[in-house]
Amino acid sequence: MTTWDAIVVGLGGAGSSCAFHLARGGARVLGLEQFGPSHAHGSSHGRTRIYRTAYSEGIEYVPLVRRARELWHELQTRSELPILHPTGALILGRRDTRLVSGAIRSAEAHSLPHEVLLPDAVGERFPQFALAPDELAVWDPNAGALFAENCVLGHATGAAEGGAELHYGERVRGWSADSAGVLVRTLSGEHRGRSLVLTAGAWTAGLATGLALPLTIERQFMLWFPAFDPDLARPDRMPVFLWDRAPQFETYGVPDFGDGVKVGTWRGRFSATPEEADRGFTDTEAGPVRSFVERSLPGLVPRETEATSCLYTNAPDHHFLLGRHPNHPNVIVVSACSGHGFKFTSVIGEVVARLVRGQPPGYDLSIFDPGRFR
Ligand SMILES: Cc1cc2nc3c(=O)[nH]c(=O)nc-3n(C[C@H](O)[C@H](O)[C@H](O)COP(=O)(O)OP(=O)(O)OC[C@H]3O[C@@H](n4cnc5c(N)ncnc54)[C@H](O)[C@@H]3O)c2cc1C
Repeated sequence: MTTWDAIVVGLGGAGSSCAFHLARGGARVLGLEQFGPSHAHGSSHGRTRIYRTAYSEGIEYVPLVRRARELWHELQTRSELPILHPTGALILGRRDTRLVSGAIRSAEAHSLPHEVLLPDAVGERFPQFALAPDELAVWDPNAGALFAENCVLGHATGAAEGGAELHYGERVRGWSADSAGVLVRTLSGEHRGRSLVLTAGAWTAGLATGLALPLTIERQFMLWFPAFDPDLARPDRMPVFLWDRAPQFETYGVPDFGDGVKVGTWRGRFSATPEEADRGFTDTEAGPVRSFVERSLPGLVPRETEATSCLYTNAPDHHFLLGRHPNHPNVIVVSACSGHGFKFTSVIGEVVARLVRGQPPGYDLSIFDPGRFR
């Protein structure tokens, strides 16, 4: 039996990048994925993901998100498919909301280019958005849209070109580890490695045994709306956006790349299991999104032409899991989700490859410690 340098379980957003960075560093890598190369059962489908730099979730994320951007540009040089399209971002809401105040804090702490725009200024520059009088917007000029499936395929292709062996349709049942290495059991056999990287998305809690991970799975929606004036919805006219109207509603959107303006929901609405990602949804569930579009995005026809759902894997503190398993230093646990992880997957692969090689990660990962909930 081959002894792999690293076995990566799950080849979605994070796992495909880990396999790529490990393989390009010369490691012998086996990647195991229960579904196909790009699928709609997890968290990395739905065509686009927002990339932003004035990071509302914490100033600690900014060095990572900056490096992620360099790596997305690097991936673009290897890929014929589009990876990251610059649009800038508007983060909208009242000044005291989590998203707006957090974006300003991160931008100031890291001297990121940004502007704070009052409703009149937003109306002049971005008439697509109808703000309430007490709302404002933070303009993040370095933001854009990532093409999610292209990113996953780009990393997976790069991993295979670097010598990684990727097994699709091979579901992992369990694993064990000791100081000599790891043994991974799948539905079709067993594999031995020196290190194990768990990047199983919504399936993480079941696979990352010994951590008592209090992860919750949330089903969220993405809907595509046509524009009355398609010119105003084009990516050179309309930025990606996040809109904080918590506690009622938090939404985000991506301009029209040919299929309408995508509007999605996030945070705390619909609990689910990993088996429910591709379940459709009801008018009752879609209703609040249509009303939001009608009220706040007046250039859009408030009736979607397409819709799908996707899974968030949420930690109670909404930070990622990224680090060594406390009982098994040769097992790395990654769950880059809580609804905002995709943009980081490029840099997460680089960090995980360093950890597997026994090098310092290059960033302070303490808020992401997988053992923090024990
Ligand atoms: C609707 C929606 C919108 C989002 N918007 C944004 C955004 O705008 N910006 C942003 O940065 N992030 C966003 N996110 C979050 C981001 O998409 C996720 O953080 C990211 O995709 C998670 O990647 P992952 O690798 O952890 O999970 P996945 O991509 O789901 O990969 C996990 C993989 O593990 C495989 N797997 C699981 N168990 C096993 C097993 N036992 N054996 C073999 N394989 C297994 C699964 O099949 C899957 O392919 C959004 C998420 C959703 C759902």
